[in-house]
Amino acid sequence: MRVSFHGAARCVTGSCHLVEAGGKKFLVDCGMFQGADDMSQENSHPFGFDPREVSAVLLTHAHLDHCGRLPLLVKEGFQGSIIATPATRDLTAIVLMDAAHILQEHVEHQQRHHEHVATPLYTLVDVFDTMRCFQKAVRYGETISLAPGVDAVFRDAGHILGSASVQITETLENSRTRILFSGDLGSSGRSFLAPPDPPADSDVVVMETTYGDRNHRSYADSTAELRDLISETFRRGGNVLIPTFALERTQELLFLFRKWDIEGFFPEGSRIFLDSPMAIRSTDVFERYSENFDAEIRDLLSRHLDPFHFDRLTLARSTDDSRRINESKGLSLILAGSGMLSGGRMMYHLEREIDNARSSLVFVGYQSVGTLGRELVDGARTVKIFGKEREVHINRAMINGFSAHADQRDLLDWCRKMSVPELAILVHGEERSMEGFRKVLPQVGWSHVTLPEMGESLTLPPRYL
Ligand SMILES: [Zn+2]
Repeated sequence: MRVSFHGAARCVTGSCHLVEAGGKKFLVDCGMFQGADDMSQENSHPFGFDPREVSAVLLTHAHLDHCGRLPLLVKEGFQGSIIATPATRDLTAIVLMDAAHILQEHVEHQQRHHEHVATPLYTLVDVFDTMRCFQKAVRYGETISLAPGVDAVFRDAGHILGSASVQITETLENSRTRILFSGDLGSSGRSFLAPPDPPADSDVVVMETTYGDRNHRSYADSTAELRDLISETFRRGGNVLIPTFALERTQELLFLFRKWDIEGFFPEGSRIFLDSPMAIRSTDVFERYSENFDAEIRDLLSRHLDPFHFDRLTLARSTDDSRRINESKGLSLILAGSGMLSGGRMMYHLEREIDNARSSLVFVGYQSVGTLGRELVDGARTVKIFGKEREVHINRAMINGFSAHADQRDLLDWCRKMSVPELAILVHGEERSMEGFRKVLPQVGWSHVTLPEMGESLTLPPRYL
């Protein structure tokens, strides 16, 4: 068995790992590289292998940095099947269609400003061709055959709905090689998705290290902080703006708000708005796969207390629905994209509220360097919104504990649940984070650790039975 790394090598985006076993080639993920402008140039570079030779893609989850280059793979000749859980398949369709729209807008913007005709990385047609490759939906724990002597098992990674760790096993006459890809792992203590399944014993483990060097603030502290912020803002008669990405954190917040609503936390006359068509479409998928939720949310559902539809919540699908939110005077809690204020409907709400000292802007996710979100988190006194310089008077807050990613403690706990592998390969982390994690791995007895370079290839020795 050989494994090579064509993305997320010493960085966090572009996950794409090639496994050669049983005379065939398989990919684990085929994600987008995401730089400051969302659609990094690196995506148009060659894959580093021939897509026509790949017989299947095993997709761990629907985040863009794991599925975003699939349509490009298909466009360049991939004809195999894409294997994923049913929830990942449905969410990937939404994520890729959105990506195709953004790529198209990106090209139109370039054409307007540079007058040269660029073509998008891929189009909606390529996305539809990609979705046709999802022939096999796989359940957690089910063993699927990839080739004679090669099979794979998906296990719940607890990161986002449908997310999985994937183990590939090659069995020869008197030897066996087992490689486990962690995928992105969920963080503990969040009251939303079921926790990750215990990992299976493996000879080689390829592991994400996004937060390998630090621990999050506890989830309970973070929810308490958010609750205080909302009540203070409403007491002043202001509005609360929460920029969010469409997947996961939005649904998690809605679930929290539903619980708080039942407890009588929200004052009379206050309203919650979900102003994001993509988030609303994703929410529909969440309802379809409610068996993945943890016990608390399943209990709400069984009592017909739907976390995604309740009186105080308005879903704004059309732009008219979105505009109508402006008519409400105070005590509005608005969830809209984009999560880093690099566009999206939230920009219109921010334009209206930026100089309102009674209102609050609350960030619940990581803000990349170069984004408006980051400027605001860093305390900018004036910012540009729609080309106009504006003074910032809105109250700003950053709450750290809502991450969908495992922190250092969670990653180590996950390692403890399996026997020590012969080799650990660290990916999906900034250099500092991977080095930080390498230093603590001896705590769980792991001593053979490597950090592959982009394009690096390793031959894995078989274990004789
Ligand atoms: Zn992810």
